Amino acid sequence: MAKVAFLGLGVMGYPMAAHLRRAGHAVTVYNRTTAKAEAWVAEHGGTLGKTPAEAAAGAEYVMSCVGNDDDLRQVCKGADGAFAAMASGTVFADHTTASATVARELYGAAADLGIGFVDAPVSGGQAGAESGQLAVMCGGDAEVFDRVAPVLDAYAKSCLRLGDVGAGQMAKMCNQIAVAGVVQGLSEALSFAEKAGLDGRALVAAISAGAAGSWQMDNRSETMLDDHFDYGFAVDLMRKDLGICLETASEIGASLPVTTLIDGFYKDVQEMGGGRWDTSSLIKRLRG
Ligand code: NAP
Repeated sequence: MAKVAFLGLGVMGYPMAAHLRRAGHAVTVYNRTTAKAEAWVAEHGGTLGKTPAEAAAGAEYVMSCVGNDDDLRQVCKGADGAFAAMASGTVFADHTTASATVARELYGAAADLGIGFVDAPVSGGQAGAESGQLAVMCGGDAEVFDRVAPVLDAYAKSCLRLGDVGAGQMAKMCNQIAVAGVVQGLSEALSFAEKAGLDGRALVAAISAGAAGSWQMDNRSETMLDDHFDYGFAVDLMRKDLGICLETASEIGASLPVTTLIDGFYKDVQEMGGGRWDTSSLIKRLRG
């Protein structure tokens, strides 16, 4: 079993770190708001570092799951950052949904210190983090990935390497592009059904086993019909992710016309006060 550190005990990181403990690893946690790290240690054991560097000292593997590019830079770099305390030959795996640009930048900074870096964003939401059934999409050196993947398995349903550093973040962008289109399609189908006087639940029963079926239909249609939007991934985070997708699309010359439109729809939801609603709240702007 390994000595690991986990940085960032948010909605995702808190249960992910717990799976590392259950797998038998020696876990040290860091969270910017220390009370959360204290609560984690009280619940799961392990130890607490007051800074990313303190948590990372002596660890063979360091994982992070923070908010965005700048948050990630803060936990990695500088005197209190994890890299300063990590030994040559250790591995840093980042689960934040961030840009491929920051992944490449940190890969370079880590390589200068002999540290391996893998970008490893996840899909599966809070429920996947709690059940340990996340899809982990990785980018980095094959040899480094091969070393860290068995540790990441503690919370993974699948853990795949897509290519060199940045490839994991690129795959996560594809994931968010595909999800945005499906959620908008489902929102349109359900609001159309309401206007057509169809029973929403009967409709879902009729079409979900056919070509229109999806994870979103299976897991969100009922709550959408009930007008409840407190079931996971928030609109504010989705807009951060779509912003990364759109910026990257312009860098690589990809065309994202529908994603651009849906990003604007999510902006409407934010303006309706729905920044913390879950992403299926797209249907609310159609019900007006
Ligand atoms: P969250 O609950 O808001 O947690 C964010 C974590 O990052 C907290 O521990 C926070 O510390 C820490 N943090 C933020 N900025 C920091 C900084 N500058 N320095 C140090 N720590 C910092 O977010 P989450 O839902 O766990 O999401 C984390 C990442 O996973 C995001 O990139 C998100 O897009 C991605 N993701 C989320 C989901 C989901 O369903 N929630 C699904 C897939 C991917 P404090 O406690 O001090 O605020």
